[in-house]
Amino acid sequence: MRRHLLLIEDNEQNRYLATYLLALRGHRITPAITGPEGIKLAREETPDLILLDIQLPTMDGYSVARALRAIESLRQVPIVAVTSYAMMGDREKALASGCNGYIEKPINPESFVAEVEAFFNPPKKEKGTV
Ligand code: MN
Repeated sequence: MRRHLLLIEDNEQNRYLATYLLALRGHRITPAITGPEGIKLAREETPDLILLDIQLPTMDGYSVARALRAIESLRQVPIVAVTSYAMMGDREKALASGCNGYIEKPINPESFVAEVEAFFNPPKKEKGTV
């Protein structure tokens, strides 16, 4: 099933690779380079999932996650942290900030899309279907 993802990532190479892999599977990606830009786009577009780099300029991913979680219309939208921080406690910090999970960089092209898709909400049942 095709989904709309918001990708908040300041590194051009990572943005390109993630977008390429997800687009191959038919997903639509809205890119954002900074946290504030991502928050604005999330509010406007209510994506199906938000991929969030943690190491961002001016406003880090933890702060972005907290801001996103404070927006009522985004309450059900999964937020997945993508970060190269491999230090103990960062996963917990991401979860405590409101992220639903965590994918480690470098992105593994073999498994990345499946890792992301595992966080999608189940499709909404249409009226009249059982
Ligand atoms: Mn970054």
